[in-house]
Amino acid sequence: MIRVAIVGAGQAGLSVSHHLTRLGVEHVLLEAATPAHEWADSRWDNFTLVTPNWHCRLPGHVYEGPDPDGFMTRDEVVAWLDDYVRSFDPPVRTHTRVVEARERDGGGFVLDLETPDGPDTLEADDVVVATGGYHRPIEPAFARAIDPSVTQLHSQQYRNADQLPEGGVLVVGTGQSGAQIAEDLHLEGRQVHLALGDAPRVARFHRGRDCMTWLADMGLYDTAVAQYPGGLAAREKTNHYVTGRDGGRDIDLRAFALDGMRLYEPRPRRRGDHVGRLGHRLPARLPLAAGRGVRRDGTPDAHARRDRGARPVLRRPAVDAHVGVRTVPRRRSRRGARRAVHRRRAALGARGGLMRIGAVAAHFGRDLDRALAKVRAIIDSARADGVELLVLPDATLGGYLTDLRDPRADLPPTLAQDDPRLAEVAAAAGDMVVCLGYTESAEVDGEQLRHNAALCVSGDGVLGRHRKVHQPLGESLVYAPGDRFEAFDTPLGRLGMLIDYDKTFPESARSLALDGARVVACLSAWPASVTDRASRLPQDRQSRLFDLYDSARAAENQVVWASSNQTGVLGGLRFLGQAKVVGPGGDVLARTWSKGGIAVADVDVEHEVARSRRVLHHLDELRPDSYVTTGREPS
Ligand SMILES: Cc1cc2nc3c(=O)[nH]c(=O)nc-3n(C[C@H](O)[C@H](O)[C@H](O)COP(=O)(O)OP(=O)(O)OC[C@H]3O[C@@H](n4cnc5c(N)ncnc54)[C@H](O)[C@@H]3O)c2cc1C
Repeated sequence: MIRVAIVGAGQAGLSVSHHLTRLGVEHVLLEAATPAHEWADSRWDNFTLVTPNWHCRLPGHVYEGPDPDGFMTRDEVVAWLDDYVRSFDPPVRTHTRVVEARERDGGGFVLDLETPDGPDTLEADDVVVATGGYHRPIEPAFARAIDPSVTQLHSQQYRNADQLPEGGVLVVGTGQSGAQIAEDLHLEGRQVHLALGDAPRVARFHRGRDCMTWLADMGLYDTAVAQYPGGLAAREKTNHYVTGRDGGRDIDLRAFALDGMRLYEPRPRRRGDHVGRLGHRLPARLPLAAGRGVRRDGTPDAHARRDRGARPVLRRPAVDAHVGVRTVPRRRSRRGARRAVHRRRAALGARGGLMRIGAVAAHFGRDLDRALAKVRAIIDSARADGVELLVLPDATLGGYLTDLRDPRADLPPTLAQDDPRLAEVAAAAGDMVVCLGYTESAEVDGEQLRHNAALCVSGDGVLGRHRKVHQPLGESLVYAPGDRFEAFDTPLGRLGMLIDYDKTFPESARSLALDGARVVACLSAWPASVTDRASRLPQDRQSRLFDLYDSARAAENQVVWASSNQTGVLGGLRFLGQAKVVGPGGDVLARTWSKGGIAVADVDVEHEVARSRRVLHHLDELRPDSYVTTGREPS
């Protein structure tokens, strides 16, 4: 007879064991497999926690790793739980399944066990059942009616795309697992058909904080199930879908639909249906935002207002981001916009050194008037969202070239440095800092030259200029190159600018960082591969390089990186989009995909740059004497 038997050695059973060990209560854990095996055995390869790491707080074992706001991968969770087991060596009988528990005459329980040595029994005064709620997959009845030639997997069995035969895949359900698995398959290049459920989506970050951090602050995780509105029925409610992948981000089914995933609306079963029916296919530009995109915006704000006395609105000054992928432009009245700015500015006071940075992915063609109107609309919309530094693409005014090999046929219009349209952009910028690209005409020694140029302005006028230095393919046929990289001061701190191909050369960003830039704005009109274009933009080799350079240049130089790009098609060039904001560790804080939008992130630039340079300071530890810089032919 033992004092306590705990059935199941998942994290719940282990936690009970930890408490009993501490209290000196004799007990045993009976585990059908091995401790915490569910995490290793029932999660897919690219699995990450949906809850931030700081949530991992078992009795006597709190996550103390380097990334409390990150999301552990499957293997990291397994290692973290293994550490827990090792830390107090709980008394576990592994591969021992409890098949029945009976009350014993005179008190206590008799447990019938299946063990590797055959059936056994155990008597215990008390039994704690900690068998979890997820290890028995729920299979809908219609699954059995599907033709056996169709491979079927339950989410519990899913590991990766290679398990499935080639071709399209139907994912049924958009709870947390369904939405993440659909994304996993989509990113692996599979044609995914997704049958939507009724789980709502949630923005991963709201006002720079993780949605679950908000929920914790609001006391949700301290509320007993019975106290939820609706009581115990709350247990049946489907969670919001969101992911911890890539450092945590939204799952935006609309973006996937635009990128080729096929979505089907839920359709009630009819009598006589043997197989579940797919509802209508939703159009790619589906109104999911209105219908399903339930954001929790109001609630955390209301909480923050109520609770302001108790804690600051933003507790963590760390790098935070929310991805605002929005089709621009969005109109607001000027008065509404001004009011919103005042609100944001007031909030900024509470945000300490946080700067809201917006990097734009958008299409701009040859029509200067249209481009100017679009720029004004984007600035208005970004201002209403509290953006302080806005980075528009290269060639915002007038568009880029249409053919890189022979660009002479269709050239963008040029603007002199004193063109009134540039002054109009500065006036529209007001107290924001705005970077944009255009084709500059300049007279040098009586010769009229054109430059691919970037301009940084605020309402006070021009803050900085850059002329593209590095020229791919035939660009040199129509543009004169720039000859320097110089940082400049802005009201938001020291900034540097690069254009497109400049970022391929590490020396460009390095020069700006050495010149004191804390933020580098990289303005692009970066097209998909000219020689070998992939059918899907995210798989194009130029997409890969574009992303790689953004992260590498930020990390090498320990600076914040705001990368904009053109989208859409101009002549023979198809532009990649993929605007993003990258932190000084190379971590992508916010990004858009191949369609238009603004990637918005709140970054405490000084704090984050200083933090990343505290131990390893790349600029201080340079060894310029060892480097070959000029004068040697490449071998
Ligand atoms: C796909 C997926 C993703 C998740 N993501 C997250 C997340 O990001 N963050 C988060 O906090 N939670 C997440 N969860 C939930 C989390 O996994 C569970 O809440 C947690 O594992 C519950 O712990 P537990 O100890 O109660 O149960 P389990 O971890 O399921 O452990 C139960 C144990 O009991 C054993 N057992 C069962 N029956 C018997 C028996 N008859 N005899 C002996 N042993 C038995 C099992 O073998 C198992 O080891 C996720 C769950 C799933 C399925």
